[in-house]
Amino acid sequence: MTKYGFLGLGIMGNAMATNLVRAGFEVTVWNRTPAKCTPLIELGAHPGSSPREVVADCDITFAMLSDPAAASEICFGPNGVLSGIGDGRGYVDMSTVDDTTARNIMQAVTERGGRFLEAPVSGTKKPAEDGTLIILAAGDETLYKDSVAAFDKMGKKHMYLGEVGQAARMKLVVNLVMGGMMVALCEGMALGLKGGLNGQQILEVLDAGALANPMFKGKGALLLQKEFHTSFPLKHMQKDLRLAIGLGDALGQPLHGTAATNETFIRARAEGHAEEDFSAVFEVIR
Ligand code: NAP
Repeated sequence: MTKYGFLGLGIMGNAMATNLVRAGFEVTVWNRTPAKCTPLIELGAHPGSSPREVVADCDITFAMLSDPAAASEICFGPNGVLSGIGDGRGYVDMSTVDDTTARNIMQAVTERGGRFLEAPVSGTKKPAEDGTLIILAAGDETLYKDSVAAFDKMGKKHMYLGEVGQAARMKLVVNLVMGGMMVALCEGMALGLKGGLNGQQILEVLDAGALANPMFKGKGALLLQKEFHTSFPLKHMQKDLRLAIGLGDALGQPLHGTAATNETFIRARAEGHAEEDFSAVFEVIR
């Protein structure tokens, strides 16, 4: 039976690892803050003492970490992934990072005889809990095929996008669009409310036509209640916009609208909304 590891049990990692354990897979978990492992161990997961031990002991190890700095630290740091990888064992990093970080990790893992796949996800806390994420994978195709059984428990769709870096790019494109849509919704709502319109009716009109989408519907209702319970932390949305702008810079693609969106999210982060849901950007717009 394939042995799976899981590193990083935040909002997403916890839900994704839970689905693997519930599916009856053998899973070893590790998190920087050990207390977050407890519910998974109670469900039947094994405790891991370090990324090195997990990667050395498991056939395929998944990671779901906050940002490029965290993904690099877990890979290159003391008792990190690199000190345990080898012999064809797989490392699948599902964190949202930039393409350069993904390539650096891929190179180091493969130099030590491991296999590497980047596999960031589209979808938030609820799809992670429901096992309905969209998994964007690139890198070692044999590892992609070997990971499908686990992907099927975490997501409703998985795509193979070719060379490492392409999945990171796809993920940044998706979140660039999402960040811009959120700011557009918040500005439209703020303007409408100031103009004496009814917020529910604004959402009803948007939902009735070509602009209908699940995000406006779900987040729009919560905005009106000023309910920003964290599903996707605002600090991570701003990180993704920063990374998208860096990619635009590297590829010579101007991103005027995204730059303005990013400034709005930076302001929201600076004003104390970093840990709230990304929809809390409404607080600095209205
Ligand atoms: P989160 O709740 O903030 O969890 C972050 C995880 O990274 C935690 O396990 C945290 O450990 C760990 N971590 C951070 N810095 C670390 C370090 N230096 N060393 C070791 N571990 C470190 O974030 P999340 O919402 O689960 O998101 C995880 C990734 O998925 C991010 O890249 C995010 O952009 C992406 N993503 C999120 C969503 C979403 O809706 N939430 C959707 C799609 C993609 P501790 O518990 O010790 O802090």
